[in-house]
Amino acid sequence: MNRQAFLEAAATESFDVCIIGGGATGAGAALDAASRGLKTILIEKVDFGAATSSKSTKLIHGGVRYLEQAVKKLSPEQYGMVRKALQERSTLLRLAPHITRPLQLLTPCRTWIEGLYYWIGLKLYDYISGRVKVGGGSELLRLQKTLEKIPTLRKDKLFTSVVYYDGQLDDQRYNLALIQTACRHGAICINHLAATAFGYNNHGQLETVQVRDMLTQQVFTIRAGVFVNATGPFADTIRLMANSQLAPRMRVSRGVHILLPKHMMPSQSALLIPQTADGRLIFAIPYQKHLLVGTTDDEAVLTDETFGPTAAEVDYLLHYINEYLDVQATPKDVLAGFGGLRPLVMKGGGDTKDLVRDHEVEMDPQSGLVSILGGKWTTYRLMAKDTVDEVCRLRQIKTECTTQNIVLAGSEHYDHTTPIRLQQQTGWDHELVKHLVSKYGDAAFDIAALAAADEAVNNRLLPALPYTLAELQYVVQHEMALTLDDVLNRRWGSELANWKQTLELATAVAPAMAALLNWTTRETSEALQAYRNHLNGMIKVAGLQHLLA
Ligand SMILES: Cc1cc2nc3c(=O)[nH]c(=O)nc-3n(C[C@H](O)[C@H](O)[C@H](O)COP(=O)(O)OP(=O)(O)OC[C@H]3O[C@@H](n4cnc5c(N)ncnc54)[C@H](O)[C@@H]3O)c2cc1C
Repeated sequence: MNRQAFLEAAATESFDVCIIGGGATGAGAALDAASRGLKTILIEKVDFGAATSSKSTKLIHGGVRYLEQAVKKLSPEQYGMVRKALQERSTLLRLAPHITRPLQLLTPCRTWIEGLYYWIGLKLYDYISGRVKVGGGSELLRLQKTLEKIPTLRKDKLFTSVVYYDGQLDDQRYNLALIQTACRHGAICINHLAATAFGYNNHGQLETVQVRDMLTQQVFTIRAGVFVNATGPFADTIRLMANSQLAPRMRVSRGVHILLPKHMMPSQSALLIPQTADGRLIFAIPYQKHLLVGTTDDEAVLTDETFGPTAAEVDYLLHYINEYLDVQATPKDVLAGFGGLRPLVMKGGGDTKDLVRDHEVEMDPQSGLVSILGGKWTTYRLMAKDTVDEVCRLRQIKTECTTQNIVLAGSEHYDHTTPIRLQQQTGWDHELVKHLVSKYGDAAFDIAALAAADEAVNNRLLPALPYTLAELQYVVQHEMALTLDDVLNRRWGSELANWKQTLELATAVAPAMAALLNWTTRETSEALQAYRNHLNGMIKVAGLQHLLA
């Protein structure tokens, strides 16, 4: 992935399809289109996965709450969506095993009636997934077994529990693996490049898109046969940019998470809090070295800003943690937080949490713009397939989608022996090997090659953390990380997990990045200050002043 070469090709060549948006949906569509032989370009305004796709609950799931709604409302639409997602679950796990895993979830029940209700519901969930189960089947557990799974559960109101299985993914790394794999199939994918205006042919159909390089402010145009709008929550902005007569289709809802120390729930299983006072579900999920708690679901206004939880949202999530875990968590325990906007397709009024998370491909006959609207992470591959089928129909190309068999970058030569082989080759300690393999899969050997070529890049950026100069060099030179945010937020996920540590890490990363990207002293201090301001701003909004630097 060479951004400069990609920029030159973007400005001079002509493409079958130009995909706008580099989240899960756009990245999946780029892989689908390129692997069918279409000349493909993808442009992303910020960074790959920078918006909703790196802010999810990180579950690969059909959605037990959507199944409950399907049954209660006798909704075939909800049922169909759950069924599709359940069938995709095992495909996503199979395509990228280095950044996914089956996850056991436990639902605590306070009465035997509740236990029976969830057990029947989860048996139905098992039944719908058919032969393509992940993990095992759902099970009703006695009190003792429940406490063996999650020892910090509050015992006073606990009667029994039901366990079931879904999948978990490292969403930002999965998003990048899709981009990398698309590039290996010939796609050009460029981050920090925003679509700003369309150009039309004599029939009023889209012919070019004007783009702005957000790093240099340079403006140029890209020429393509079909333009795909895969901008998630921003879909209406692009639809109206193509055709101002179109009626808005999107509603966005805000969902936030907080991160707590793992000792509050020392467990391999996740906790599903089945019912909040306002009719939501909350998950507490072991995620890497932390406990991820979320989420909320409130109608929101579209924003470009990266945001985290407010102090009220922190209190809301802690209230439910304290109701189910014997830990008495306070805001002082919160390590970090993040928030995202759900792209929901408008279907009349009502609460955003009741809207079906299904997707829709829309073709505007006037401009020719193809928009992929709605959906969820779990169904990104189906969304991509439906979108590229439409592109092929418009281009009169007969091809079949094969992405169900395309193993993603990092997993091509990955298996359970990868960490052992890396350890034997490098002599690195267990922590470093685990850290690298769980992020880069088989590409961890490329980082080992950089480290072998230059002894100096083996140095850790901070003594307490596993990040080395070699890893930084790798993400800058091979993964198109161009800003502090690209590295700390999406390549390493540090910002999503621990704000205090990330502020320290930023101080060490900035000069090392400057050396790799030829930043001047002034550019380096401005980049560091802007990053600190951004993180300190989120800390203040969350009411977590103890984390300020
Ligand atoms: C709180 C929360 C929790 C969730 N949890 C789950 C879950 O556990 N499992 C699950 O399956 N789903 C989950 N989802 C849903 C899932 O995350 C989203 O459906 C999915 O990530 C949307 O991907 P996308 O690519 O459509 O949108 P995005 O990821 O938002 O990508 C759109 C991209 O378009 C770019 N863009 C916008 N305008 C332009 C422009 N002019 N030029 C170029 N680029 C542009 C943006 O910068 C952005 O990167 C969750 C969503 C939220 C909000």
